[in-house]
Amino acid sequence: MKTLYGSTPEEIETIVLAQGLPKYRAAQLLEWVYQKNILAWDEMRNIPQDAREKLAQAIPLTALAPVEEKKAVTGGSEKFLFRTADGHFLESVLISQEGEAAAPGNRQTVCVSTQLGCKVHCAFCASGQGKFLRNLTAGEIVEQVSRISRMTKKKITNVVFMGMGEPLDNFEATLKAIRILIASWGFALGARRITVSTSGITPKILEFVKSTEGRVRLSVSLHSSMDAVRSSLVPMNRRYPLKELVSALRRIHRDLKREITFEYTLIAGVNDSEEEVEGVAILAKPLRAKINVIPYNPIAEFPHQAPTPEAAEKFCSQLEKHGLRVTLRKTAGRDIDAACGQLRLDRMSHR
Ligand code: SF4
Repeated sequence: MKTLYGSTPEEIETIVLAQGLPKYRAAQLLEWVYQKNILAWDEMRNIPQDAREKLAQAIPLTALAPVEEKKAVTGGSEKFLFRTADGHFLESVLISQEGEAAAPGNRQTVCVSTQLGCKVHCAFCASGQGKFLRNLTAGEIVEQVSRISRMTKKKITNVVFMGMGEPLDNFEATLKAIRILIASWGFALGARRITVSTSGITPKILEFVKSTEGRVRLSVSLHSSMDAVRSSLVPMNRRYPLKELVSALRRIHRDLKREITFEYTLIAGVNDSEEEVEGVAILAKPLRAKINVIPYNPIAEFPHQAPTPEAAEKFCSQLEKHGLRVTLRKTAGRDIDAACGQLRLDRMSHR
């Protein structure tokens, strides 16, 4: 469904002119939507009521309705469930870092979903277990950011495409959403404040980096340095094996000198061996890649254990001994079922 959220200046101008309204109304609409994050037509105070009524007839303003908000018990993150106009559920997370040493200042990061379900079917991911329903529109992606900003009264500083779905499998909408997030007429976020996380669709990564001129941060799900293990966790690896993926990333690193992050979901007894530490170091060092280690958050469909905090620390420190930059994600998200897709699945099973 096309909505005002997700529309570009050109598209908004076309709608405005088609309603016989002056062109300058388009600039006003852009400001109300992307900078003031309004969620109702009658909030647009400098647009007369008859003009608002005409516009409302021409295009819906929004596509989502809030359903539920869950706060992490340990603080730091809040999870939001939204309902789409066609009755499906999607989720987003707000991660607040206020004045922490690791992130001086006030960083408010929204983690957005890009699809309803996911076709990649990673073994450890709740989203990957559910049925794929459809891609989200660019409007549904950016509306998550606006709604969370309004609901929490926080200025969003960063957006990560790490929620439900594989962003590069919804390529055009992801690119359009990024354009809106970074444009001066849009949310005006710096491109380096946007991170797109991918399971490793190699040709799409190359196309994405070309389309965004490497300006947006890229995060690649590694999860293992061995093809057999990675294929069992991320079936996509059978199609785009590690050798192909890493050689594409080397080209990107060589040509653009851009930093790449590897996501590594650490699962006890599956990918936490010393052999993996060596393998990850061999892959990551030439790329000067940062490793983001995420302790596995157990789901019923994948009966493996989370690593103990000590085992996770040890895995990270062994990687650091190879000179790699490593971050260990806090487990605060576990309090709110922050494994992607989990809240939605929970809700779906109770319908
Ligand atoms: S981890 Fe990401 S890519 Fe893999 S199934 Fe889940 S949502 Fe899809």
